[in-house]
This record gives sequence, structure tokens and C-alpha cells, in this order.
Amino acid sequence: MGVIAGSIERRLLRVGGVVQGVGFRPTVYALARDLQLTGFVNNDTFGVHIEIEGGTAQLDSFIERLPRELPPMARISQLEVTPLEIRKDETFSITASNARGALVAAVTPDAHLCDDCLRELGNPADRRFRYPFINCTNCGPRYTIVRSIPYDRPNTTMAAFPMCERCRREYEDPRDRRFHAQPVACPVCGPSVTLCQNNGEPLARGDDAVLEAREALLRGQILAIKGIGGFHLAVDATSKAGVEELRRRKGREQGKPFALMVRNLERARELVHLDEAETEALTRTARPIVLARKKRTPTGEGGDPIAEGVAPSLRHLGVMLPYTPLHHLLLEPPMPPLVMTSGNPTSEPLTTTNKDALERLSSLCDALLLHNRDIQTACDDSVVQVIDGEPLLLRRARGFVPQPLLPTAPPVAGAILALGGEMKAAICLTRPGQLVLGRHLGDVDNIRSQEGLREEQRALSRLIDVEPELVVHDLHPDYFTTRLARELADERSLSTMAVQHHHAHFAACLAENDHPLDKAAIGVIFDGTGYGLDGTIWGGEILVGGYRRFESRCHLRPLALPGGDVAVRNPYRTALALLFDVFGEAALQLDLELFAGHERRHLEDLVKLVRSGLACPTSRGVGRLFDAVAAILALPGGLSTPVGYDAQPAIELEALANQAPEADSIEPYDINTASTSDELDHRPLVAAIVQDLRRGVDRATIAARFHASLTKLATDAVRPIAEAESLDTVALSGGCFNNALLLSGLTRHLEQLELEVLRHHDVPCNDGGLALGQAIVASACSTGAAPPREE
Ligand code: ZN
Ligand code: ZN
Ligand code: FE
Repeated sequence: MGVIAGSIERRLLRVGGVVQGVGFRPTVYALARDLQLTGFVNNDTFGVHIEIEGGTAQLDSFIERLPRELPPMARISQLEVTPLEIRKDETFSITASNARGALVAAVTPDAHLCDDCLRELGNPADRRFRYPFINCTNCGPRYTIVRSIPYDRPNTTMAAFPMCERCRREYEDPRDRRFHAQPVACPVCGPSVTLCQNNGEPLARGDDAVLEAREALLRGQILAIKGIGGFHLAVDATSKAGVEELRRRKGREQGKPFALMVRNLERARELVHLDEAETEALTRTARPIVLARKKRTPTGEGGDPIAEGVAPSLRHLGVMLPYTPLHHLLLEPPMPPLVMTSGNPTSEPLTTTNKDALERLSSLCDALLLHNRDIQTACDDSVVQVIDGEPLLLRRARGFVPQPLLPTAPPVAGAILALGGEMKAAICLTRPGQLVLGRHLGDVDNIRSQEGLREEQRALSRLIDVEPELVVHDLHPDYFTTRLARELADERSLSTMAVQHHHAHFAACLAENDHPLDKAAIGVIFDGTGYGLDGTIWGGEILVGGYRRFESRCHLRPLALPGGDVAVRNPYRTALALLFDVFGEAALQLDLELFAGHERRHLEDLVKLVRSGLACPTSRGVGRLFDAVAAILALPGGLSTPVGYDAQPAIELEALANQAPEADSIEPYDINTASTSDELDHRPLVAAIVQDLRRGVDRATIAARFHASLTKLATDAVRPIAEAESLDTVALSGGCFNNALLLSGLTRHLEQLELEVLRHHDVPCNDGGLALGQAIVASACSTGAAPPREE
């Protein structure tokens, strides 16, 4: 060691955040060596424990440089420094973590192939040249290969591949990029790929399999490709016939868009417009699907246009970049953009095993590109949309899970399991100070996906080492998750708690924005559905309150749903009921295209149903208003075709509105929206829409005016509440805020009133964020205050 000027000190650094399993300790090691400091680093229950000893200037320099020189996947959320007694260590070392110490947040999300590995993948001199499983501490699978904790190779699905001598040397060398990279592998010792016919017959192995798979894709064939968290079905996106065939085989819901994978950013720019924030979203470590605005004629390699069938009648395309080495090999030139849709029959959980793929996917594809590294946990691609320059996570899965969220304002009590709702299910577990929101599980409305959720709560508890003491569920008595909560509570003698659906959305948004615990706020919750405190269906709410309690000050005027769920799938029914609400018996006399596809008798029967109220539940959900308006404008679902996928009418209505010139600054209808009661009344709005339609105003303009008017309706309802109660913050949540026009319009209007607007970013505003909201409500209630009043 060199001579160190000044006094010698020792300091303890405790670092919290994403600091385990991401190459953090080798970074600390290298930095300490560089500054000639002695001491040690290891993982502990808090995160990382560092003791450094040396000259004051060097210690200061260490503390200053550490946050700037982090490995790519690491993130520091807390750093505490305390002085210690000098111990006169000889060197700096990485010491073993005690078993308990290694547990917290030890498992990080899967990460895309890093630039160093990508270079090696393309370097003929490298021993991992063209090796589809190359990875290092900065990249590769994590969450999807972990069987149990601590996160060590024997506890991953890589246990089946003993490391060769050279891999082991890299793994054990703190100066190596592969130091403690659990999935480290090479062509000698690691997993390999096989191309199979759809009858299971192997066609080729290793690099030949990759090359032949490319040939098949270039010929327009449909391939099932095993990835990190499941299988994709892939086809050339410029092949009209291929895309149509895939849609036919998959029985894809009518019109539901497919995501695309393209080689790199330049290729992505040929398909969609990407601003700075969208570029950043596309290239972030998680490599999510980014919904971005389609170019006029999106083209692939060589100028071939993307098949219209990829995302018919939508303004956006879902685009992602390659994230595994295999993707990079497959997408080498001249491969056109590929449709990459999740490899599971619609509404079933993801396929993860080779056997399952051969059984379930072989009828959907021409060949399967398999590999022999097992997927322990299925994980969908995540989906992001940038609105007003800010990323909003629509689906939180691969690359984000199981990264804990660390709210600083509301207290997070430990050991709470929240089960979420029924659609876009995801569960949430808490540890002191942390929330872990689990992966997107899809809708749990069938046995297979319900089994998936059952298994998920066991697996996540194991993974983050939490034995829940309280189970939280939605207020809806008939949700599967509500029944499961009771069942778990009985089994393990736990307590349960119900949280109202829209309160959970509200709390999730407050928590994500670190809103203070005891400060009341307004919540505008525009949602599809949710069980209300009075037993009716809510979803157009203006709430006042906070984490612990809330009141609904204003609801959307209820819409009648003739036939209940049938009306949700066939929005012309809701539309008719809505028109009846506005025009009475005269509704059927309106000469609207909406009615053209239906027998007169049938429509009259529906009106009878509405009048009688029999088999005609009501909903205050803004999602239903979108359905009805889409139907009145005769969008798909408005005529005799049922809705093809969740929220299709609303998505297409927004796309239509965006065709209007200056859609985001169009004037709202000149209707009285001053709110004097506790009801958001949509009737004047609907009357104005019908008047426009009959005047022959184009539909895009009407759709845009509808968005602007709804925004005004909400703003005019918020204003008197904010003024009367001196509230200055408004949280926007609920599935309807996936709508960019609505979200950014309402934000602008509320900000003009000098209100602070809180929106979602890392937590979905749809039901994918519900469990997190439930957990935070339960947590806030268990820390000292009375539970929310349910009145
Ligand atoms: Zn790497
Ligand atoms: Zn090896
Ligand atoms: Fe919801």
C-alpha cells in the first residue's frame, strides 16, 4: 500500500436499493482498490454492507464516486454513512454474506443483453461467438430462472449445467465481468438450442438450428420461439399472408394488435415516431414493448410495408428491441421486423416448458425453436406508453418484476399479501419499507389462470421471504381473489381485509408519487368497473381522502347494461340504454347507424328491459360510457360484432379522435357542465354527440369533442371540491387513463387550476396496479389509525 496523507478513518456504508445480484460488490471492490482503501463488502438484510478504511480524502472520494460508477442494473435508494473504529485491515475483500443477509431483494429482474456481451456474441475470436446464452453480471435472466433463495446457481435452473473450468474461473474472479453471474455459461458447458418440427422431430441443433430457424422465418413460416419468460409465436411482419395465418391459428380476438420486434433503434424508427422519452423507454434495461405512433407507411427491411393486420385501425404499434442473444442472432440482416406475440392460446397462462409447447403450440406453428434451460417462472413482455414525455407502464412484467418499489412517504408495514382484482391480475407482497408487485398474470377468470395465481402467491412469498400475516382483497364478493383470500386466511389463520376497488387505485397513485400520509387529496378515478361501497358498480369517481380513508364525492351518472355482461361485450346495448336515458321513447326514432344492424323488435325488447330494470344492472364506470359512445359512432362493437378484446371500443375511439385535426386542443361541447350535485351527468354530452352526428359532422371530430367534454366535465367537478376544502393535489387513476388524450387533457386542465396532478409511472393505472394500492391501504391502516369507514 502507498503512503496515505492525512488521518486514517474507517467508515461503514449501508447501501439500500437494487444492489444485490447486479455486480455491485465487484464495483465496490474495484473502486476501493483503486483508491487504496482497505476493508470489506458483503450483502446484508438491508442491501450491501461496506466498511472502508483509509485517508479522509480517499474515503470522501469513494462515497462521491460510488453512485456515479454503478453497474447498469444497480440503483441506490439509500446510503447511510457512519464512522467506525479503525481495524487496520491488510486488504480490501469481498466476504461471504450470511444466509439471512443475502435474502432481501436478492433476486433482480431479467435484463437485456449488455453491450459487452453483444460485442462478444459477434466476435469470431471470442469463445462465446454466436452463443445464444451468453450473459454476464450486467445482463441475462434472473427472476425467471430462480427456484429458491438465496440467488445462487444451485438454486436456479442453471443448476443442471455444471460450469466448465474456464467459466468457473470467470465466475470466481472478482475482477471479471462474470464474477458471480449465476447464469454464466459457454458452448462447452451451457444450454443449447434445437429446432424441431411441430411433431417434435428435431431438425437441427446449435448454430444450425438458429440458421435454419432464420430460413423458415424468411420463408414466412410461423415459429414458436422459447425465450426468457415464455414462448413467442413469431412471423415475418411484412408478410400479409403470414400475419393473417397467425391470427387465424391463434384465434386472436378480432383486431387485437400484435407486438413487433425489430433489430435496432434505426429499424424501429422506420416503423414508429420516437421522441426522446420513447427512445429511452425502448432501450431501457427491461426492454419493454413500447406503444408508439405508427409512421404513415411503416416499413421493414428493403421498404416492404408492415402488414395491415398487425394492428388494424390503430394509431400505435407496439415495438420492442431484441433482449436475448438468440433474438439478436435471429434478427440479423436481412430479417424483417417480426411479429412476436406471446405463445399461448388466448386467455391461457404462458407456455414455459418444451413439453407443454409441443402439446399446446404445435398446432399454431410450423416449427419450434427450443432450448434446454428451464423457465422457472413465466413472465410476459412488459408494455410501456409514453404520455406527455412520461413513461406509463401498462403491463408490468419482464424486466420490472420482482424489483421492489420503495415508497418513502406512506409507511409500508411488513408481511401483507394483497391479491388484486380479477382482470390484469397481479399480486403484491410487502416487507418493511418495501412493496413487491408481482408479474402480470392476465385475467383470472378461468381455472388455469386461477391455479397460476395460487402458485404465484406461494412462489413470491418464497422468493422474497415473506410469510404474510394479513391478506387483502377487493370488496367484490364474487371475485376469485376474494374467495382465495378467505381460503388462505382459513388455512393459515390469517386476518383479511377488503379494500374498495377505486380506493385501491387512488392509494396506488398516491403511493407511487410519495404523497404524504396525512395530507388529503382528490382522486379522479375513471375505470371500467369496480364494486362500490353501496354494492353497485362504480368506476367514475371523484374521491376525497388518502391512504386510510376516502369518500366518493361525485359519481358518474349510472348507465344501464341491458343483459349485464352481454352488454359489456356488445356495447350497442349500453348505447341504446344511454340514448333512452337522454331521449326517452324517442331514442328509437333517431336515425342512427348504430341501429342499422339490428332487428327493430330486438331493439324494442331491449328498451323494455331498460324500462323494467330487469336483467339490467347499472354501472357508473367511465369505461362503459366509452363503450356506449364508441357504439353510437358505430365503431366495431357498435354494430352486430361483439367486442374483440378488453377495452377495444375505448382504444378505437381514442384512435378515431386522434384523426381529427388538433385533437388535443379541440373545443368541448358548449354544454352546462357546472357540477352542482354529486353526479357527473353525461346526458347533455350524449345529446350533443347525437346532434353532431345528425348534422353530418365527421366522426373523428365528434370523438375528439367527446374526449374534450369529458375532460371538462371532470375538471368542473373537481374545482368546487378543491376550493371548498382547500385541497391542492389530484391523483388520476383507473384503467381509462391508459387513454393519452384523456390523461393529458385532464392533466392540463387541472394544472391550469394550479392543482398538483399525480399520475402513474411504474405502477399500472389499470387493475395491474390494484394489489399495490390494496397493500398500501392495509399498511397505512395498520400503522396506528382507524381503518377506513365503510359507509
Ligand atoms: Zn453482459
Ligand atoms: Zn463454460
Ligand atoms: Fe379497476
